[in-house]
Amino acid sequence: MSQSQSLKLAALAGDGIGPEVMREAIKVLRAVENKHGKKFGFSIEITEAPVGWAGIDAAGKALPDATLALCKQSDAILFGSVGLPDRDPTIPKEERPERAALLRLRKEFGLFANLRPVVLSKALAHACPLQPDRQGDGIDILVVRELTGGMYFGRPKETTDLGDGKKKAVDTMVYTTDEIARIAHVGFRAARLRRKKLTSIDKANVLENGVLWRDVVTAVAKEYPDVTLEHMFVDNGAMQLMLKPTQFDVMLCENMFGDILSDEAAALAGSLGMLPSASLGQTTGEKTFGVYEPAGGTAPDIAGKNLANPIAQIASAALMLQYSFGLNEAGVAVHNAIAKVIADGLRTGDIYSAHDAKARKVGTSEMGDAIATAVAG
Ligand code: NAD
Repeated sequence: MSQSQSLKLAALAGDGIGPEVMREAIKVLRAVENKHGKKFGFSIEITEAPVGWAGIDAAGKALPDATLALCKQSDAILFGSVGLPDRDPTIPKEERPERAALLRLRKEFGLFANLRPVVLSKALAHACPLQPDRQGDGIDILVVRELTGGMYFGRPKETTDLGDGKKKAVDTMVYTTDEIARIAHVGFRAARLRRKKLTSIDKANVLENGVLWRDVVTAVAKEYPDVTLEHMFVDNGAMQLMLKPTQFDVMLCENMFGDILSDEAAALAGSLGMLPSASLGQTTGEKTFGVYEPAGGTAPDIAGKNLANPIAQIASAALMLQYSFGLNEAGVAVHNAIAKVIADGLRTGDIYSAHDAKARKVGTSEMGDAIATAVAG
């Protein structure tokens, strides 16, 4: 990245707990800017805008035109979450925030890669459904999922009548060399920022798509000789996640396998409040546009009570520093700050255990303050 660059960020907090956790992420980004801005020559320009029901209330649309315009002028979007199940049930499906805001953004910015890191530190062993002896020194997996191809979008996709009340449903799994190579590059580049191992998931023993997937990933791997590549069938991958999750660094998956395995892996982290995500579009020059957001939703049951865990939002901001802003060291500093406050015993309600003598229950803002302080320290 060139010197003294101003990085433009659109902060769309959305509904429910969105504004509460976004506030903490911005606090941490300001601490990052103070600590690392001079050294690495950057400043962060943050502009907030309404989305979701907040967008409908402000401008009659879940993704107001002004919000979309802001996103287009920005280098990345930090997104909270949208949707409130109890609001106006009569509004048509396509105008509801989940579709009109999120899916629209995905389409508008051609987001084809979804990154879901799953981190479980030793201090949160109790929150993981696996026995401690299967958790090793902690779990740290990145699921890289292709987002725009495969069975979810392939044509034909239809249900036909066979008569006698019987029907036939067809979905089609399609991938091209270019689509596989594009996501494979994202996976290998991510592995380079981590422990340099990539496990490519496929079903090459049964599916033509799997054979092509394996061939293309193997070819792309030649450009990343420093990354160790292994191939694994998806059924074995699902089993290995439960048996020995510590063997994985980056898991590279097509759309449907990634959808399923990322949720399975997510269960290992113990709480939705710990899970960030990134959806990336094309890289132009040094820049990769991305939407960064918590894996969870608006959590209406705890909204407005200072109970939400802000870590998913803060870790999403850290991914943004790494993947869109090219500030890997600053991003890692945020991940380390999160690890430090967890090791120090700070817990929001979702990750608290009364059996942990070291644990101290805190609210959303205190957790954000502690992470910002750890970044500054
Ligand atoms: P949810 O993820 O909002 O909540 C599920 C459970 O997880 C709740 O008990 C909640 O309290 C808890 N939880 C989630 N995030 C948390 C956090 N940061 N800290 C502590 N606890 C947390 O899922 P839901 O209840 O099924 O959905 C609520 C609304 O959110 C719906 O309108 C749904 O459509 C929407 N939603 C939006 C997104 C998005 O914007 N990307 C994603 C999922 C759901």
